[in-house]
Amino acid sequence: MSSTHVLVLNCGSSSLKFAIIDPNTAQEHLSGLAERLGESNPQIKYKHQGQKHTVALNAGEAHQIAIDKLVELVKSLGLDKELVAVGHRVVHGGEHFTQSVLIDDTVHQAIVKTADLAPLHNPANLLGIDAATKAFSHLPQVAVFDTAFHQSMSPTAYLYALPYELYKSHGIRRYGFHGTSHYFVSTQAIKALGLEQKSSRIITAHLGNGCSVCAIKDGKSVDTSMGLTPLEGLIMGTRSGDIDPGLFSYLVNQLGYSVEQVDTLLNKQSGLQGISELSNDCRTIEEAAADGHPQATLALDMFCYRLAKQIASFAVPLGGVDALVFTGGIGENSDVIRAKVVEQLSFLGMEIDAQANLDARFGKEGEITRSGNTTKALVIPTNEEWVIAHDAAQLAQEQ
Ligand code: ADP
Repeated sequence: MSSTHVLVLNCGSSSLKFAIIDPNTAQEHLSGLAERLGESNPQIKYKHQGQKHTVALNAGEAHQIAIDKLVELVKSLGLDKELVAVGHRVVHGGEHFTQSVLIDDTVHQAIVKTADLAPLHNPANLLGIDAATKAFSHLPQVAVFDTAFHQSMSPTAYLYALPYELYKSHGIRRYGFHGTSHYFVSTQAIKALGLEQKSSRIITAHLGNGCSVCAIKDGKSVDTSMGLTPLEGLIMGTRSGDIDPGLFSYLVNQLGYSVEQVDTLLNKQSGLQGISELSNDCRTIEEAAADGHPQATLALDMFCYRLAKQIASFAVPLGGVDALVFTGGIGENSDVIRAKVVEQLSFLGMEIDAQANLDARFGKEGEITRSGNTTKALVIPTNEEWVIAHDAAQLAQEQ
């Protein structure tokens, strides 16, 4: 075992995903999830050397206790001696951060300030940073931002057509998310297809519980479907994606919704869940649609139509498309959705290869369009944890 391992932490409001990764080989030496933190029955589940384990926490115990237990576990497995850094996923880096950074007091302050833009995410990320800094005070802590990759967008792409003052005084603009994933899979696609990065035109579709598309020209993000928050753009599991903003005042003035109720409606009750009235889980929707459930079929059709439309629109900033990459839980596994989307994009010069599409599932990478197609579609499993480990190890080394 080389001594370059990184502890990767992804801290949510009631959960903490963790992994110990060798950035040189991408091998995971430990991975797990602390869940239901602060609730009545929190627990830590982890995998080590192929074996799964569960540790129960006491009712109400939250992030600091979970990290303390994680430290005990890491030490008891002898993995602590191999660590060179802790890498944190931070959702919102605002305009401050265009790349990953070592966390010092100034960076910490900037992440606190940016929490205004991501009140659900950044405070949870900070809980993880603070607990890990206390527990691993001897290790460099590194922040890797979901927004950083999209900081190459031009104002033409990132501004809303609102009074400019809102941007200048409050930073109201489009930021985009899933940057680490879009960066990783686009880089892998460029390698797999033997393209020159400096003349490449890639569209990446990260389709998980949250979904976003990114237009990547010459290796740089030039546009993406998410905006100020991760609500804009595509239809997602429970999020509406794009809607007429006039809906907001209609719901408030005509139907008596409060601001909180509108927020909950758009973020938690819409998307696949809202249309199907069945589930936010794509597998359930696909199975029900195959059994003839009309609203599940409608949800699937709307999801694919909006996705294809968004992808096609990104041919504009790219001036053409060399490759479309599918990733995330849906993108990596749903041959049904991939086939429907590619079919609607046939005018770009792409046709699905049915067998290759079926083969590229459950972690298998592959090209899923027919040979000779001018635009290729690929499936590439994402690995955000590896990018975090890589950046953290590199910054630790340069320190
Ligand atoms: P997150 O965004 O939380 O990381 P994931 O990337 O794991 O989520 O994606 C979760 C989504 O992937 C769910 O909608 C799930 O139904 C979908 N998914 C996972 N496996 C399959 C599959 N075999 N077929 C279709 N959808 C799948």
